[in-house]
Amino acid sequence: MNRISRRGICLVLSAPSGAGKSSVSRALLECEPELRLSVSATTRAPRPGEQEGVHYFFRSPEQFAAMVAEGGMLEHANVFGRHYGTPRAPVEEALAAGRDVLFDIDWQGHLLLRAALPGDVVSVFLLPPSLEELERRLHGRGQDSAEEIARRMQASHDEISHWGDFDHVLVNRDFHQTVAEVRAIIRAARSTRLRQPWLPGFVDTLLRH
Ligand code: GDP
Ligand code: ADP
Ligand code: 5GP
Repeated sequence: MNRISRRGICLVLSAPSGAGKSSVSRALLECEPELRLSVSATTRAPRPGEQEGVHYFFRSPEQFAAMVAEGGMLEHANVFGRHYGTPRAPVEEALAAGRDVLFDIDWQGHLLLRAALPGDVVSVFLLPPSLEELERRLHGRGQDSAEEIARRMQASHDEISHWGDFDHVLVNRDFHQTVAEVRAIIRAARSTRLRQPWLPGFVDTLLRH
């Protein structure tokens, strides 16, 4: 078997806050060994339990601006008044090594990443079953203040209005079914013709015997 590695895919998962993006990401990383999370840099403060380099690279606005100026970001955007960005080097190394990379980024990041890495992005947008359920989930998560939840509920209208930019759209009703559907999307993306550069050689050999 020819060992030329396939180039990895960039799986972008976006959703209005509370729709289940972090929970789905966590489940995917547990069951897909070829998948790595792109750890973003942000200027927001760490939440309780968040670790430097695991959940985010926490940076000052000045440090963040320096990373952008040096060309160190694949994309960056302002979300809820803070800067968020995707460090370039780890993503490029992973893709070249044939590993797939998961991105938990907003709709702006999705469009910017698509432009930065043409052909590599496969995107999934998660919708909540209803806005009432979205609000219930934000409350149920128990991590944000009432004002923060109100802010995120307000922002959800805008976030949801970008659903049409995405390759795949799933309503996150049943959690396990959502995870299974995203896994099916990953499998399908890995088997496209362009992701398997050894195919021309393989078919040549096949037909010569
Ligand atoms: P949560 O989505 O409620 O868990 O909140 P987070 O604080 O984890 O994320 C806040 C927002 O920042 C979300 O809309 C993310 O999609 C967005 N975000 C996270 N990482 C990135 C990134 O690397 N680039 C961009 N452009 N947006 C990001
Ligand atoms: P996000 O990362 O999109 O902000 P989370 O993954 O933190 O959302 O999910 C918000 C809350 O909703 C969490 O408490 C999570 O356990 C819950 N949740 C996620 N998916 C579902 C689902 N399909 N059904 C019910 N609750 C869900
Ligand atoms: P939070 O502050 O709740 O961790 O993240 C807020 C939002 O920022 C989420 O919607 C998340 O997807 C988005 N986000 C996180 N990191 C990045 C990033 O690197 N780039 C972009 N564009 N968005 C990000």
